Amino acid sequence: MRFLPALAFGTLMLPLAALANDPNSYAQPDQVRVTHLDLSLNIDFPHKQLDGQATLKLDWTNPQAQSLVLDTRDLKIAKIEAVGRDGKTTPLKYALAPRDKVLGSKLTIATPKHPAQVRIVYTTSPGASGLQWLTPAQTADKKLPFMFSQSESIHARSWVPLQDSPAIRFTYDAHVTAPKDIRVVMSAPNDAKHPLDGDYRFNQTHPIPSYLLAIGAGDIAAKETGPRSAVYAEPSVVAKAAHEFEDTEKMIATAEQLYGPYRWGRYDILVLPPSFPYGGMENPNMTFATPTVLVGDKSLVSLVAHELAHSWSGNLITAASWRDIWLNEGFTTYVQGRITEALYGKPLADEEALLSARALQKDIAAMPANAQKLAPDPRGVGADDSLSDVAYDKGSWFLRTLEQRFGRADFDAYLKGYFDHFAFQSITTEQMLDYLKPNLIEKYPGKMSWDEVQAWVYGTGIPKDAPLPDSPRFDAIDKQRGEFLAGTLAAAKLDAKGWNTQEWMYFLDRLPDAPPLAKMQQLDAAWHLTGTPNAEIGMRWYSHAIAAGDKAVWPAAAEHMIRIGRLYLTTPLYKAFAKTPEGLAYAEQVYAKAKAGYHPLTQQAVESIIAKAKKAQH
Ligand SMILES: [Zn+2]
Repeated sequence: MRFLPALAFGTLMLPLAALANDPNSYAQPDQVRVTHLDLSLNIDFPHKQLDGQATLKLDWTNPQAQSLVLDTRDLKIAKIEAVGRDGKTTPLKYALAPRDKVLGSKLTIATPKHPAQVRIVYTTSPGASGLQWLTPAQTADKKLPFMFSQSESIHARSWVPLQDSPAIRFTYDAHVTAPKDIRVVMSAPNDAKHPLDGDYRFNQTHPIPSYLLAIGAGDIAAKETGPRSAVYAEPSVVAKAAHEFEDTEKMIATAEQLYGPYRWGRYDILVLPPSFPYGGMENPNMTFATPTVLVGDKSLVSLVAHELAHSWSGNLITAASWRDIWLNEGFTTYVQGRITEALYGKPLADEEALLSARALQKDIAAMPANAQKLAPDPRGVGADDSLSDVAYDKGSWFLRTLEQRFGRADFDAYLKGYFDHFAFQSITTEQMLDYLKPNLIEKYPGKMSWDEVQAWVYGTGIPKDAPLPDSPRFDAIDKQRGEFLAGTLAAAKLDAKGWNTQEWMYFLDRLPDAPPLAKMQQLDAAWHLTGTPNAEIGMRWYSHAIAAGDKAVWPAAAEHMIRIGRLYLTTPLYKAFAKTPEGLAYAEQVYAKAKAGYHPLTQQAVESIIAKAKKAQH
């Protein structure tokens, strides 16, 4: 997944009693494990619900087990039955516990006879946390409704009853019905030539964790971008997306050269409406992506490199719990950098590494000590804390440090071996370290001590000798920013004509938090940043301009906030507005207009920012 993790939320406090298993799941894999899901869904757009039947194939690990415990959230259960080997069904007794705010409702099914399969008949709620339902008016082409899922971290349970923990992997089949003209896609091999007949079947033959279960449906066209890749998007967006992502096959080939074969078959990308709350989501075979990276010059396609990299780190080897999530995101951010370097050159890869390192340096000191650790103490941290930029940026920084110490050739060979060794398994940080010690650290003695490894993984802050890439272009930008702020360089004299997106991001990121108003007005007069179609630049520009008190940018900022529901690009503007009573009142007006088009996760995040600000101002 790619989002600005510091903005993640939905704190998952850990019930200590559950620590033996995944603390963010009620599942009891020491009793029984789901090995296969047979899913049948009807997409009911008018009622914003999925009518479902989930048949779970079970592997009973404890002969004494009395029950099957599943995760659910806001599901209406109609019936639960055992399915015998002969297909005969027997009703089962079950209890649905009251809803826990974070974990949802524990579903306990009495199964003393250890059935081979259990079938749950259910419907989802219109407010399901893992689904977004858009009316035709909320889509780009305004013809048909649209719906999509976002299951990571613990939202699969809001649309399928299952063991919702990354430690448990299963294969799945799905049969999905939808109105005619609606195309349905899932996190499994998809067929771009499938007729729009409202009847779709999917088969994911590789065992995946529940957070990679995904579905999308709407007015979706497809366009091939290579022999094993295509772009799916609304008809008016698909050509632009295919152009932006035309290097996808080159990216797959590059990653294969480094880390071994791409094992999933096809790699397709679904471009979602702008309300998609994240940058991208690495759903197997079908990455879900924000349209905010379609800027026309491929400058933001490292997002695709990131989601593709997850085909190795994350989807092939999965963090066994949310506490270990840096095994997904840190490794992936590192691999993303290697793909970017191979395709677009070292200067761009170095710029992206520096952007991430500088942002982390700025943020990390303010985090609680436990949240500063790659592998935090699981008793003291929630899943949202684990999904912070520590997992992404400190994790990838650690891997870049390993590469530098051991040399690229030996480190590449090590990583390739790591991906082979743990393929299709969910592992903990400690399992990763047990492999790292003999296969890298001790194999090439004298390059890095075990104490240093421990400091990276279990220590707070960033080790003092952490290497930073050189970027002469960023150095020049630092110099110009300094001169501009000091008044010795006029805004119009900034050498910004050739700046790429990353260079603008870097220039704006390192402005003072509340820059002088006159400086912002000069910048805007010279470079017309207000109204930029590039949302990465827009988010940074508007946050600084609002903080500077530049009310002239408010309407354009509001337009940005209403148009884009991606958390990382929208919540900073709410935060900037929320700093003054007048700004907060304006942000509330903007939210009233934007809310209907926002994903449930974005609504929750914005409401929490507004509530916090109101409390602080009273
Ligand atoms: Zn990711």
